[in-house]
Amino acid sequence: MTDAFDPITQSLRPQTLLSRGGTLRSPFGETSEAIFMTSGYIYKRAEDAEQAFAKPGSAYVYSRYANPTVTMFEERLRLIEGAEACRGLASGMAAVFAALACYVKAGDRLVASRALFGSCDYIVKQILPGYGIATELVDGRDLAAWEVALSRPVKAVFVESISNPALELIDIEAVARLTHRAGGLLFVDNVFATPLLMKPLALGADIVIYSATKHIDGQGRSLGGAILGPANWLTEHLANFLRHTGPSLSPFNAWLLLKGMETLDLRIERMNRSAGHVAAFLESHAKIERVLYPGLASHPQQALAARLLKGGGTLLAFSVRGGKSAAFRCLNALKLILISNNLGDARSLVTHPATTTHFRLKPEERAVLGIDDGLIRLSIGLEDPADLCDDLDRALAAV
Ligand SMILES: *Cc1c(COP(=O)(O)O)cnc(C)c1O
Repeated sequence: MTDAFDPITQSLRPQTLLSRGGTLRSPFGETSEAIFMTSGYIYKRAEDAEQAFAKPGSAYVYSRYANPTVTMFEERLRLIEGAEACRGLASGMAAVFAALACYVKAGDRLVASRALFGSCDYIVKQILPGYGIATELVDGRDLAAWEVALSRPVKAVFVESISNPALELIDIEAVARLTHRAGGLLFVDNVFATPLLMKPLALGADIVIYSATKHIDGQGRSLGGAILGPANWLTEHLANFLRHTGPSLSPFNAWLLLKGMETLDLRIERMNRSAGHVAAFLESHAKIERVLYPGLASHPQQALAARLLKGGGTLLAFSVRGGKSAAFRCLNALKLILISNNLGDARSLVTHPATTTHFRLKPEERAVLGIDDGLIRLSIGLEDPADLCDDLDRALAAV
């Protein structure tokens, strides 16, 4: 099926691949990618149907298995990530769950970093143990803790390369080495870093997972997810799991994500630059207790950030002096920056993790993760950073 990819795109540079990679053209010769809104496919002869079933992947059979618009999304992201294979899914959580659930079996052991996105935390702490998988959480920043946890055999290790919301980093190279020594595979949720700022596969990770809902769409329109890794692993472990459980990406959403990728590089570059500007502004503000941003010299893992990340990223977190009431006064006084728990959007968005994304955690669990009551997470958008600083300055004056 992939013989039909636009042949000029195979050896080009990342920026070119973001707009041209993975293009499949129909006989009509359309410029922009077509949306193949079809659930099924027809066969000219009964023998063709027989052949399509006998040789999986030789023809489109049913859109739960594969669809041309979804294939284009998968191929474009695969080229950008530098992976052997990619599968698109309905959401980031569908991708996290499928990647782990297709691989771990009852009796296996899974180790994860403890600073996890809420739903990832639920999968690791609630769902997988119910299926007979022993799970253990470690402080992802602490290599000594990884050494201990991975001194025994493990099937899978799951980490978020940059954690939400405190922006802790994982030393992917070191954790990959320890994981492999313990006989496991390293699964990395690379949402916060994006495929442009960090390449976990090149650092030794085995499987990379995205919520495409965030920076890849980047315009707050569509849910989507992806799993990338070695072709034989995706074929052996993932393909039948997806085929028979059906967390399929809609062709329409795949098309939105393809359009998002066309501008991903431009958006990330701008948002990354603006985030640095806003972080420096906040760090110098009297009403701010601390700013967490991997691009600042004050970040507790600054050297690791400089080694693993191309830039500081598009997200930052800051604590307002005065706890929850001060943080709420600041949020409510913002006029330009919007209150939303989403991130990676063209619009700058703020959230108060302690009362939203992390409200289920006990206060002592939040304290361990660095989520104090004054903490605000800020996802930088495409607005002029000077307008963002003005908005924050005005809002902080109300505190
Ligand atoms: C948003 C997010 C997810 C889940 O993605 P959805 O597309 O919302 O299902 C997983 N991990 C991280 C780090 C995220 O930010």
